[in-house]
Amino acid sequence: MIKTAEELSLFIDHTVRANETAQAKEFLARSASDRQALLLTSEYYTNLPEVSDEALLAIKPLRKRRGLGLFVLETASHHYLAISDSDEARILGEYQVEDLPAELLAHFGFKDNAAFKADCPEAATLSDLRAFTSRGHCPVCGVAEGEIHLLGCPVEICPWCDGQLTRCNCRFEQLGVEEIDEERLEMFEDLLEAKGRIPYSREQSPAYPGTSAGLDQG
Ligand SMILES: [Zn+2]
Ligand SMILES: [Zn+2]
Repeated sequence: MIKTAEELSLFIDHTVRANETAQAKEFLARSASDRQALLLTSEYYTNLPEVSDEALLAIKPLRKRRGLGLFVLETASHHYLAISDSDEARILGEYQVEDLPAELLAHFGFKDNAAFKADCPEAATLSDLRAFTSRGHCPVCGVAEGEIHLLGCPVEICPWCDGQLTRCNCRFEQLGVEEIDEERLEMFEDLLEAKGRIPYSREQSPAYPGTSAGLDQG
């Protein structure tokens, strides 16, 4: 469950060892403007499996695909593996030790847990979440600036109407149909490619996560 920065600050006062509370709050202040960081921080301070009194010092993205990300949560002496989408975060276990469940292996394209672990670099070599949240990547589908969003990403802008591609009516108008099935979706994708899709740029991002109401409304 996501907490506000104020709530987390209270958690820190109660759970983090005294000599690390200042660092914990400094990290919280830096990450509070990023929803995913706040989700992961909330998860860390409220649901950490072992009782820990260490400050969370860094969040490092490991993998991102279709809005689902694997992250390494770093403390002074531990690294935890966590998973998060834009609504939820969960600590899976110790980084480089914990196995991924089968569905996550499949989602991130790993053959098995040996392949996953072979692809888990030393945490010290991973860059901080700031690299991710510098608007260099789409906050939902994770593509880099200048790349085309994964189809279905709610941040993608429609090249016909400049609206939100997942919400506007252009797909129906362009295809001259009332309903979309998988085959028609592929036809629409072809039309979209021909028209020229609008790649991710950081200007598309500032409204997020403030647009969540817009994403949810039917
Ligand atoms: Zn996107
Ligand atoms: Zn449109």
